[in-house]
Amino acid sequence: MEYTTLAVLAGLPEDPHGAVGLPIYAVAAYGFKTLEEGQERFATGEGYVYARQKDPTAKALEERLKALEGALEAVVLASGQAATFAALLSLLRPGDEVVAAKGLFGQTIGLFNQVLAPMGVGVRYVDPEPEAVRGALTERTRVLFVETVANPALLVPDLEALATLAEEAGVALVVDNTFGAAGALCRPLAWGAHVVVESLTKWASGHGSVLGGAVLSRETELWRNYPQFLQPDLKGQIPWEALRARCFPERVRTLGLSLCGMALSPFNAYLLFQGLETVALRVARMSETARFLAERLQGHPKVKALRYPGLPEDPAHRNARKYLASGGPILTLDLGDLERASRFLGAIRLLKAANLGDARTLLVHPWTTTHSRLKEEARLQAGVTPGLVRVSVGLEDPLDLLALFEEALEAV
Ligand SMILES: *Cc1c(COP(=O)(O)O)cnc(C)c1O
Repeated sequence: MEYTTLAVLAGLPEDPHGAVGLPIYAVAAYGFKTLEEGQERFATGEGYVYARQKDPTAKALEERLKALEGALEAVVLASGQAATFAALLSLLRPGDEVVAAKGLFGQTIGLFNQVLAPMGVGVRYVDPEPEAVRGALTERTRVLFVETVANPALLVPDLEALATLAEEAGVALVVDNTFGAAGALCRPLAWGAHVVVESLTKWASGHGSVLGGAVLSRETELWRNYPQFLQPDLKGQIPWEALRARCFPERVRTLGLSLCGMALSPFNAYLLFQGLETVALRVARMSETARFLAERLQGHPKVKALRYPGLPEDPAHRNARKYLASGGPILTLDLGDLERASRFLGAIRLLKAANLGDARTLLVHPWTTTHSRLKEEARLQAGVTPGLVRVSVGLEDPLDLLALFEEALEAV
């Protein structure tokens, strides 16, 4: 079935009252009638016990995400950061190394440098080109980490080539698919990524109203190379032998939810489940508008440079055409310097916020906000210049948006 069909039908549970839609289970614990029933649920892990591990509302969201991204398993967590952390915690042990793309989301870099490094995990940052990645892999590398679309550099890595390389090296390719909009724009698992982590806070939610994240994974033999899946667990079973490819998502659930408690609230699961019903429509419309703005503002005398992967002359165009369903809802404008960016943002009658994927167009000045903690050199390396403005295009009328942009450019 097509994405838009799955988006409204997949994951809908059978309801005893015939409810059309997803009921919210605002419940912490699930009871048992007898000692034997409790014993059975603890022994098998089937059914529900306590909402930190699993609950029916989150389960419906997991089922829907699995269908939309073509995953074997999905685990939803409290935020995108929680998802990234739980996935990495499940794959890495002290002494292991990560090869990560330069220019990752700021807090992901923070996670590597401030949380994982002190736990003994090394990280090397490279351009996510197959040659550079190959040169950085060592015997200790366990994870290759990239984003579907680097932000705000708007570069798209060659996912298929990286997946082939990772497979050959026996290393997990983990893709942060936040910009892939829950599969509406990109489905990295279909290109060979082993694991997807993503923030559902952005396009999946679609209204800037809640936080959420997910870890998705596919069928693979890779986990047989990882010592943590070959050692007996608390039940005395070898995870890889007992669960095959499901040993990884099971570990994410145990570490991320049961032990670290990074659970998604049922109410947020409900809103995200609903957000997914329209994500493909919203992203398609936002991409059309982004393209329209890019075409009309490119070459504007006040715009020094404009980047939009949907434009044929854009450096990301080749990979964007292959991997993305459209040019996407993000574009960047470089106004030349800080002073001009400041005048532009002061004049534009649209919202300025460090978020993405909202129904409203949101603008941000990465140099002074999202990337301000990085050294100047690192900012420039990530494609962040003092004049750069990132635009997450919303659902406003395209002509209204163009008029508002032109009005603000007048003030520059
Ligand atoms: C926002 C974002 C995250 C973090 O997600 P949260 O839901 O805010 O925790 C991770 N990666 C990327 C690319 C993001 O844009």
